Amino acid sequence: MAETKSQNIHFHGANVTRDEREAILGQRGCVVWLTGFSASGKSTIARRVEQLLLEQDVYTYVLDGDNLRFKLNKDLGFSATDRAENIRRVGCVAELFADSGAIVLTAFISPYRADRDAARALLPAGRFIEAFVATSLEACEARDPKGLYKKARAGEIKEFTGISDPYEAPEAAELIVNTEGKTVDESAEQVLAHLRAHGFIK
Ligand code: ADP
Repeated sequence: MAETKSQNIHFHGANVTRDEREAILGQRGCVVWLTGFSASGKSTIARRVEQLLLEQDVYTYVLDGDNLRFKLNKDLGFSATDRAENIRRVGCVAELFADSGAIVLTAFISPYRADRDAARALLPAGRFIEAFVATSLEACEARDPKGLYKKARAGEIKEFTGISDPYEAPEAAELIVNTEGKTVDESAEQVLAHLRAHGFIK
């Protein structure tokens, strides 16, 4: 990460700790970092898991790539540098939400391993769950819910992950989510089962 630009800033510690917040909420914050090709199912799974968690009274929050590009990241495009900055910012936001006690679900292609690792490094050990939505490029392209692959193949979208831009698959993801031949609920259940197994939910 780049050096901090400002000189005369001092970190102001809190009077209230994360542990105290979590004791009130009765849950531990974490980040489930969904990564995978466009149309692999990240947003759909994140939204379904969010809904199922809320039904169990779990405090949760979804950070969605496209949505954040409308505001926080409206100045960023899809070059490797802009993608890195995009992930750096959303990684910081995810960390803040997790620190507030939320189970955060992020839905970013996040194609570069180094960028994902930097987001992981912001969280305490065990609180970053890299979830590889391992839908094959062929299946994503066959789905093409937004017509983006068609446009990318026609050369109308440059820097499109999987077509004209790289995707570095995770090598040691905590969780591999399958969607091919699975319903959305089956994929969402894979995430919930992991959260259950690691004591984040009951
Ligand atoms: P991403 O956020 O990765 O770009 P989306 O969630 O926007 O992907 O789109 C995934 C598409 O795949 C949706 O049209 C969804 O209905 C479909 N789909 C089919 N099976 C699944 C599954 N098991 N999990 C998630 N999405 C699925």
